[in-house]
Amino acid sequence: MSHPILELQAAETMADQLKHRRERLVERDQVQAARNELIRWDQARSLMHQRLDELAEQIEESEADGREIDKHRAKLEAQLKTVIAPREAEALQSEITTLSERRSQLDDAELAALEDQTRIEDDLTALLGQEQTLRDAFISADAALNAVATDIDGELTRIADRLDGLRAEVDPALLKRYDRLRGHLVVAATTLSGSRCEGCHLDLSAHEVDDVKDEIAANGVADCPQCGRILLR
Ligand SMILES: [Zn+2]
Repeated sequence: MSHPILELQAAETMADQLKHRRERLVERDQVQAARNELIRWDQARSLMHQRLDELAEQIEESEADGREIDKHRAKLEAQLKTVIAPREAEALQSEITTLSERRSQLDDAELAALEDQTRIEDDLTALLGQEQTLRDAFISADAALNAVATDIDGELTRIADRLDGLRAEVDPALLKRYDRLRGHLVVAATTLSGSRCEGCHLDLSAHEVDDVKDEIAANGVADCPQCGRILLR
């Protein structure tokens, strides 16, 4: 690569590619995936705590209700011992039976809640056991991203350091044209390869190729008649 404008173009193309690569690093996706895992983990932990709080409240209420029922039933049973009229005794007995049924339902519900509590506590213990692994995975994914990004940044800095020198070697008028083209084109300066412009990849007519070659011979550079890019041999 002889002409400084082509070296400048190559350096800037390399910088563009590195910036593009830096934005689309697979390591960046891996950091995001590890972060999402941690977020899901934290949500699951919150849900389990919330469910455990609800169950504790439910169990406490069951026990308070149970104590009330027991108190009421004991009172009715005491009354039953003093009652003589069979109809009154029957009514009391029926009320006691209803209370016993209600008590039994409460016990069943409380037992189910206690089983849920045990199961969720086990799940929570298992979940908490995953925390360090997930945090370590995030930290190492983040470190891997930083390592790759730092390498790219180092390369970008080296290229940026070279750019001033390369720009100083290019004729100011040509540099101005190059910068204007670079405003809307990735490749502003390229070569003629046979009859093909390597910028727009179109074949020039034999006549156009002759004109371009003449102009390059006279001025060192020419314009591509198809795309307007700076053409060199
Ligand atoms: Zn072209």
